[in-house]
This record gives sequence, C-alpha cells and structure tokens, in this order.
Amino acid sequence: MSMILANLQALQARIGQACDRAGRSRDSVRLLAVSKTFDAEAVRQAWLAGQRAFGENYVQEGVEKVQQLQAAGLSGLEWHCIGPLQSNKTRPVAEHFDWVHTIDRFKVAQRLSEQRPAELPPLQVCVQVNVDGGPNKSGVQPEQALELAQAVAALPRLQLRGLMCIPEPAPDFASACAVFGRARALFDALNERGLALDTLSMGMSDDLEAAIASGSTLVRVGSAIFGSRHYPASA
Ligand SMILES: *Cc1c(COP(=O)(O)O)cnc(C)c1O
Repeated sequence: MSMILANLQALQARIGQACDRAGRSRDSVRLLAVSKTFDAEAVRQAWLAGQRAFGENYVQEGVEKVQQLQAAGLSGLEWHCIGPLQSNKTRPVAEHFDWVHTIDRFKVAQRLSEQRPAELPPLQVCVQVNVDGGPNKSGVQPEQALELAQAVAALPRLQLRGLMCIPEPAPDFASACAVFGRARALFDALNERGLALDTLSMGMSDDLEAAIASGSTLVRVGSAIFGSRHYPASA
C-alpha cells in the first residue's frame, strides 16, 4: 500500500472521530488535499486512493500540475487556489482553477469574475478573514467581511461559497476552538444577513479536530497526507 493511501485512510479515520466527538455527520466535512510542493505523481497517488479535491498555493506550480494531470487523463479533479493572490496573477487562476479560498480584496474578485472563461462554470470562492489579528496573515478584518462578501456575491462569474481562515497555531485545543469559533460566529452572522454560505474552510494537519469541533466544513490538509515539505516551491 502506498504511503499516501495509508495516510489518507488514517486521516479519514481522524476526521471521522472528530465528527463523532462533535456530534456531526461524517459527510458534513470535506477533505481538501494540499499538494503544494509535491509533484503530479503524488497527486495521482491520492487520486488513485479516491481523493478528488486538491489545494495549491503557488499559481504557476498549480497550473502546471492541472495541465499535467489533464494530459494524463485523470478525471474528476477539483482544484482549489489557497495561496495569497495578487491582482496581476488572477488570469491563470480564473482559467485553470475551480475554487479560490483567499479573496481579501474586491479588486481581485472583480478581475477573477471578468477573466473567468464563459465556457466554465462560475468560480467558487471564499472570503478570507483574519480572525485572530495575526500580523502576517492576509484576510479582511471581521468587521469588513460582510461588505466584501456582499460585493463578491454580486459578481456575475463568481459564486460566493463561504469564509476561510488560517489562524496562528494555538497553544491548546480550547484556545484553538475559541479562535475558530469567531470564524463560525461570523459565518452564521453573514448567513443571517441573507448570504447563502455553505463552506467554512478551516483546519489543517495540526488543528483539524478543533476546527471540526467549531463547525469547519472543509479541512485543508497537506503534510498529514503527503509528508513534510522539504523544498520551497517557486512562487
Ligand atoms: C500549506 C497549507 C495548508 C496545509 O498545511 P499542513 O499543515 O501541511 O496540513 C492548509 N492551508 C493553507 C492555506 C496552506 O497554505
């Protein structure tokens, strides 16, 4: 059995346990396999194990993998851009990805909408929120999330699906839940204001239990599937 298959099975069990403990159904949490810095062969191994949704941080690296795996004939792949996105790099993302999790400025959303090819379905997007005030993190401040979300939801070629956050690592389970809980509260508040959000993208290899306990609907996991990342990818 390949290491990636074994890791995916262990991870599915971990997600299942976290769902049980939170009193949630197993199918309320999706797994996004974060394949940044790993090659197309690693993605193919995960695909053979049944994984379909993959996350990439670096536009050029991601587009290369999308094209390689398309050429290899793999079907049903869903590609998520989860890295910071500059407005001069939106076009390849609009043309090759299915989702973008990191919308933190209207200008980026507007360009993605303009550049989304007409023959593709709308690009699925999340607004990134800086829930813990981390100094190095992108994302809108929570107070600005409603305004940005409403503007994004009105763009014709985007479909707003929810919120995403990447909080700083927390010292323990309870403090992780406190921070993830703020994202959940904001998600609920936006839905009360009429936005039909169904995706709360939060939780990674080290904190997915706390994220699931706090209402995450999509965990983004890299190292627990593919192993530790040894080389920096080119941006
Ligand atoms: C790299 C990355 C992940 C995955 O992190 P792991 O700790 O390897 O699970 C998740 N989300 C984002 C935004 C990332 O950049």
